[in-house]
Amino acid sequence: MGQVRHYYLGVKEEGRILFDFVGNPFVDAAVAGLTALVGKENPRELTEEDLDGALLDLPRYFFKNDGNDVRSRWRGLSGMLYARNIAFFNPKPSKEKLIEYIARFREQIVPLSDSGSCIICGRRNAIISEKITWNQIPMTSSGGLVNFNSFMSPGFAACAGCVLLMLFLPFGILAPPSKNGTTPSIFLIPHGVNKKIMLWLAQDAVRYIKQRADVPVEDIRFFFPAGNEGVIPGSANVPEVAILRIFAYLVENYLVGSNQPLPPSHRTMDVYAIINTNQSAMVDIYRVPQPLFDFVTEALKHHRGELCEFLFGPNRKSEYGTMMAKRLVAGDYLLSRFINLRNRAILGSKDLAILYAKEVLNMKKDRIRTIQKLADEVWKYLKDSKKPKRELEILEKTRNNPAQLRAFFIRVLKAGYHILNLDEYSEVFTEEGTWKESLDLLLIELYSRNIQDPLWEKAPDEEEEEEPEEPDREYSEKEEEDEV
Ligand SMILES: [Zn+2]
Repeated sequence: MGQVRHYYLGVKEEGRILFDFVGNPFVDAAVAGLTALVGKENPRELTEEDLDGALLDLPRYFFKNDGNDVRSRWRGLSGMLYARNIAFFNPKPSKEKLIEYIARFREQIVPLSDSGSCIICGRRNAIISEKITWNQIPMTSSGGLVNFNSFMSPGFAACAGCVLLMLFLPFGILAPPSKNGTTPSIFLIPHGVNKKIMLWLAQDAVRYIKQRADVPVEDIRFFFPAGNEGVIPGSANVPEVAILRIFAYLVENYLVGSNQPLPPSHRTMDVYAIINTNQSAMVDIYRVPQPLFDFVTEALKHHRGELCEFLFGPNRKSEYGTMMAKRLVAGDYLLSRFINLRNRAILGSKDLAILYAKEVLNMKKDRIRTIQKLADEVWKYLKDSKKPKRELEILEKTRNNPAQLRAFFIRVLKAGYHILNLDEYSEVFTEEGTWKESLDLLLIELYSRNIQDPLWEKAPDEEEEEEPEEPDREYSEKEEEDEV
């Protein structure tokens, strides 16, 4: 006979839950911000008292000196996300208006239920006493701003909870410091199945903001995980660079000591990037899938310096780092970027390249082992050869010509080296689209052996060779040609 089981999710009294994550990035960032602000770990534990305390405290974050002088950087948020001005900033910012605004919506907040007419959360009924406008919910304008919620128009149906929560958005949203001026050029909301990440970042944002709010005259900046410029190069105002910096921060502060692996569905992240174009704002959504999530976190945990070298590139230029961040987050093929063909060197390390092949390219362990076995034999062949440099050059040039690659292997085979049997060869080199990956990994294996034990003595002029402008240019250009 079957048994009836009861599951309680966090709080037993479902009917008393005031706030929860609802799936909308703005609301969820605000919920994380509010939860962190009152020092709780789970939004479902928020009480009426928590909410009232946080609302009472709110004016001191928005205004300087307990007056009506707005902490101006925060005005940037209203200018970007809302149509020009949030209600209580317009036409003149006023603490009284903020307090009146809070009171107006506070009394209409009821606990969440299973359904409701609010088109943002669907868990409470929409306000009917007044029209909600683009001054109250971010990115809902039909004017100059991009309408993130495309089904909304001024006067749309939103509940008092969603409207009021937006005041806590500054505690759950990230923005790298702008060079000058008060408005950041980009805001970011990491969002995903794993709400812990949002809560961690919100807790740190609250800590950061609270410290500054204690100084009554300070302009409060938005929080952004800083201090990772040395690991992740490039400009943090580029979303992909910002995303990798957030990862570096999470790994350093939260993920490195954790022995509990997150379940696969939690090892993904969507990042909403709200980009200010001066005239308007637009939202770009970046999805970090599990393979990329795993590669980046593992690389940051165990190969930090090597990842840094790989991303910085041969000349340690910031622009190169920006380009690499864009390509990494876009999921472009980057195994060839580990190869510095000109200097026969590896950018990063062989281990990092293998991690990339495994996680991002989904290369099976057996295949990697077969390539390593092949590298052992080709290495012996090169070592024994009278002209190892010439032979290696031939191999390097086969990348765009599989027929030449076969000819090279036949020569190795005829010279008496046991390279691959037919099964192994077809596993490694003839599967559609995979032979280039295999050749790149073979070269990485050979170069790593060459670094330990050079195949030939370098002539003095070779060693003096000047750094070329872009050492891997010929390689990467060819790669782009055939992959476009
Ligand atoms: Zn709602």
